[in-house]
Amino acid sequence: MIQAVILLGAPGAGKGTLAEGLKRSADFIHVSTGDMLREQVKAGRPLGLRAKAYMDQGELVPDDLIMQIIAERLDGGPAAARYLFDGFPRTTEQARGLDALLAARHGGIRKVFLLEASRATLVARLAGRRVCQQCAAVYHLRNIPPRQADVCDQCGGPLRQRPDDTEATVLNRLEVFRQQTEGLIAYYAARGLLARIDAGQQRDQALADIINLLPVATPP
Ligand code: ADP
Ligand code: ZN
Repeated sequence: MIQAVILLGAPGAGKGTLAEGLKRSADFIHVSTGDMLREQVKAGRPLGLRAKAYMDQGELVPDDLIMQIIAERLDGGPAAARYLFDGFPRTTEQARGLDALLAARHGGIRKVFLLEASRATLVARLAGRRVCQQCAAVYHLRNIPPRQADVCDQCGGPLRQRPDDTEATVLNRLEVFRQQTEGLIAYYAARGLLARIDAGQQRDQALADIINLLPVATPP
């Protein structure tokens, strides 16, 4: 069966970075809707073209598109595995959609981690974020600088700012998150699935906190 763990957090809370760290200590299939959407955009797929206009404005991509890529991803992956969702669900509509997809596959949600950080921390992280154009590795001008300016340590590719990490779009993304998340938090808290994590602290400490609270995998 599918055992889902969800990382819920504002843009800049560190979902992607923590997901990378988590994958190293536990066996997870990492599903990032942001990464999947950016791949669709890069490949010029119809779904990507529809999504791009929303992403560039910092708006949410419509739920039907998101549910479509999630369903395809679950159908293309193993039926018995632990899945780590990062950046999904983002609305209660998507949360209900996920419940339905999991129920149809005899799966369930094991834990939802709410990554909390101050607004100042979030803005500083997003403004300094740089991403490798070639391998998508993530850096930060001050916190995680590459060895050579604007060059990826891992593959030598060029580092760029994400088009939605500019100031105006960042502020909109944070506002969209604030509006959408209250309902989501209530949705999962009511089911006893929610754990709050201080995402303002050092990455390794936040990671350790998550690992401590991670339910043990039940055998398939
Ligand atoms: P962040 O969480 O830092 O905003 P992501 O990479 O997760 O970054 O998402 C980037 C953009 O992709 C979002 O602003 C939104 O437009 C779109 N997106 C990603 N995941 C979802 C989702 N689950 N529902 C709707 N839109 C999404
Ligand atoms: Zn790279």
